[in-house]
Amino acid sequence: MSGDEFEIIRRYFTRPCSDADLVIGIGDDAAVVATHGPLAIAVDTLVAGVHFPVATPAEAVGHRLLAVNLSDLAAMGARPRWCTLALTLPAADEVWLAAFSHGLFALADAHGVALIGGDLTRGPLTATLQIMGDVEADAILTRAGARVGDDIYVTGTLGDSAAGLALLQADPADPSPAQRALRERFLKPSPRVAQGRALRRLAHAAIDVSDGLLADLGHVCAASGCAAQIDVEQLPLSGALRAACSPADAETYALAGGDDYELCFTAPPAVAPTIEAALEGVGPGARRIGRMVQGRGVTCLRNGVPFEPAARGYRHFIA
Ligand code: ADP
Ligand code: MG
Repeated sequence: MSGDEFEIIRRYFTRPCSDADLVIGIGDDAAVVATHGPLAIAVDTLVAGVHFPVATPAEAVGHRLLAVNLSDLAAMGARPRWCTLALTLPAADEVWLAAFSHGLFALADAHGVALIGGDLTRGPLTATLQIMGDVEADAILTRAGARVGDDIYVTGTLGDSAAGLALLQADPADPSPAQRALRERFLKPSPRVAQGRALRRLAHAAIDVSDGLLADLGHVCAASGCAAQIDVEQLPLSGALRAACSPADAETYALAGGDDYELCFTAPPAVAPTIEAALEGVGPGARRIGRMVQGRGVTCLRNGVPFEPAARGYRHFIA
């Protein structure tokens, strides 16, 4: 690595850290942390032009890169602690680096996460972040724990991000409040870390909604060996989504759009009041949208009658 690159790491990615469990931070051949139990580890890559439009503001790329990883830890019930960053850049663009690191660290600070190492290379814009966090051995949330009779819940609202991306691509400058709110949901998703923590020992199964509700709930069904029924009337839709889209499009975005980064989880009906209480005061609550039943796969119901939704999967977007 050239001296120039060390300077970039020093200037944009090295910050004081008071974490007592961080033994060696940025600057040596590897970071070293002290662990006191199970560690949850996830990694995600964002490729410009594949996972975000090339023109996306750098601050949003930094935010989003950490947010998608935090969302994975949230779905495990883990407490995020440390991350490493592998960044591939076409050029050492200082304005871009300043904005990117600002977006990354603002979210990192909000969640108490420390950047403890990484790598820097030249090439087409690609950002990979690996995250690590603690999770109590008896409280790990997985996709495999759902049982027949469980209620199905989802946090926040669904479909905003996919609608926001579509609107962003159609007209990046549309000033209406609804469109701005939806664009913001795509650019700056809010990972539900506190909700994931609150659901430990309450939820039977959890997943974060990154590929669309039907696809991700399908993973819970497959891993748990049962089926899901969704009451589409119960899908949580934001006012912005309702304002910007037809009812049919809003439903399709909510069922099949990606990048929501909400949590979908299941829990027995008996703990419904406990779940409501546990999620109170930790951001948007959760809505019951259906139930786990015997069988396979995800079925949509309208007024109790099964129907085939317009779309099931989330196609990777951007040309
Ligand atoms: P090596 O050649 O041993 O892989 P590098 O020269 O790549 O080491 O990195 C030097 C130090 O800077 C290491 O501690 C590494 O973890 C850290 N580092 C490199 N790139 C980044 C980055 N983008 N963000 C944070 N730390 C980084
Ligand atoms: Mg290296």
